[in-house]
Amino acid sequence: MNDQAPISNAPIQHFIRTIVEADLNSGKHQGIATRFPPEPNGYLHVGHAKSICLNFGLAEDYQGTCNLRFDDTNPEKESEEYALAIQEDVRWLGFQWNGEVRWASDYFPALYGFAEALIEKGLAYVDDLTPEAMREYRGTLTQAGRDSPYRARSVAENLDLFRRMKAGEFPDGAKTLRLKIDMASPNINMRDPVIYRIKRAHHIRTGDAWVIYPMYDYTHCISDALENITHSLCTLEFEDHRPLYDWVLDQLPVLSHPRQIEFSRLELHYTVTSKRKLNQLVTQGLVSGWDDPRMPTIHGMRRRGYTPEGIREFARRIGVSKSENAIDMAVLEGCIREDMEAKAPRVIAVVNPLKVVLTNFQDALSANPTASRSAGFHPNHPEFGERDVPISREIWVEQDDFSEAPPAGWQRLTPGGEVRLRYSYVIKCDEVVKDAAGNVIELRCSIDHDTLGKNPQGRKVKGVIHWLSAAHAKPVEIRLYERLFTDPEPDGHKERDFLEFLNPDSLQIVQGWIEASIQDAAPESRFQFERLGYFCADRLDHKPGEKLVFNRAVGLKDTWSSGPGQRG
Ligand code: ATP
Ligand code: MG
Repeated sequence: MNDQAPISNAPIQHFIRTIVEADLNSGKHQGIATRFPPEPNGYLHVGHAKSICLNFGLAEDYQGTCNLRFDDTNPEKESEEYALAIQEDVRWLGFQWNGEVRWASDYFPALYGFAEALIEKGLAYVDDLTPEAMREYRGTLTQAGRDSPYRARSVAENLDLFRRMKAGEFPDGAKTLRLKIDMASPNINMRDPVIYRIKRAHHIRTGDAWVIYPMYDYTHCISDALENITHSLCTLEFEDHRPLYDWVLDQLPVLSHPRQIEFSRLELHYTVTSKRKLNQLVTQGLVSGWDDPRMPTIHGMRRRGYTPEGIREFARRIGVSKSENAIDMAVLEGCIREDMEAKAPRVIAVVNPLKVVLTNFQDALSANPTASRSAGFHPNHPEFGERDVPISREIWVEQDDFSEAPPAGWQRLTPGGEVRLRYSYVIKCDEVVKDAAGNVIELRCSIDHDTLGKNPQGRKVKGVIHWLSAAHAKPVEIRLYERLFTDPEPDGHKERDFLEFLNPDSLQIVQGWIEASIQDAAPESRFQFERLGYFCADRLDHKPGEKLVFNRAVGLKDTWSSGPGQRG
């Protein structure tokens, strides 16, 4: 995996594209139709982003269509909040679905009709087995299942019972409707799968109209067919369900028979990609919500400051295949960093401030005033404009840009040493002020007034540090994020719960300073804070004029920690 390649939109060939191209070239399809079928039972995560980019991306590349269809067959777990958030995420990633949003529940009447048709063909029956008994009858991987004693019911009896299930005559779980396929099939999914269950649950779309709900496998293939989907892409765990997908469609008078193609799930190191586990983090209060910037959710990544283009580039680079797809977080961070590198204006912030008094500062009233310079917002984008970088008698620098006993090769502040202030003068550290406990609380430095925009006479000063004029800087809350888990595969341990690997230091909130030029930046504006990383004004808490809050989206690959050379 190359995370250095430049951002590009050029598609990377993969086996699904090859299939699509063959189907278009052979005339099997005039155009392609894909769909993204989330269940509205949680917020989408980075794995879903892969699936979104694949389905919508194919439709874009081959002038086809992609539907957004909610798989809303599990009423207790689903909510309107999730459905809205999912739509927002798809749009934010830069995609638009074909026509209206679709819902599997729109097909409940059709699905019910098909179920009666299957009963009439002798291909489905009402079963009274309890869930425990059903499990026992199902057999195991090595042992064939046994026919349910209710399997031989007549068509008339099955129809009558199924209609009475729908009418609400039986309690929840008392009966199911099952397909009559083969209890001895080596594929357990083909051992008379349940396609309807009785469940009195309020549904977000159909309310209390139904007390029976169709199962996913039955619903999904028919929904695909009703929408004339050509290629139904799903993750590998559905591979063993494909015979069932095809079996159902082969029995029904539907016009199209989509082709199911499976690809491997994205697994991202140092995080979890399972809605159930992410839900656990939210409900146990271990994160601030689904949009906590540490979450691998699309909402979380957005709030943290990741760009849609960066996420799409990530999906492009990781590719699509059937082999294991465990990716290091660094690949995602690399894509985000590259995108921001090109687009984010560069400004100055000080995260851990240390006060410096410039003892020979000469204000504008004196004969030889200390001057400020103007600096561009991006070295490669003059069109981003410039701003003044004001200086005053007191400035802020980073605490870790000063060391009393520095290691060899140190090029930043140290007693008696010199350093260049970015876009400004060379200063020399003359005096270190400490509190009673011995902590350094202030430096007293002198300016070499002959170094603005030129090298000092007769010596080299290599180090350059960032700084802010205390009289001009604005206070800011800065949220620094680290990985949410300390283990690359937090949910990969049999004996230990994934929560045991939560990183206790994944969030650090500091009070720092930001240059005044961005005090009016809107929420979600992104910047490079020089030498610190890429930051994004918080979507919710950043309120210009009241409180400025920035999230660190991603660090700089190449921090200037050992001194950047002559860049002042
Ligand atoms: P989870 O296990 O997190 O609950 P899911 O598969 O149940 O995920 P759905 O809402 O059913 O979530 O998924 C919608 C689509 O996204 C499906 O086509 C699914 O295959 C795909 N998808 C889900 N997780 C991943 C992943 N990690 N990588 C790639 N695609 C995924
Ligand atoms: Mg699912």
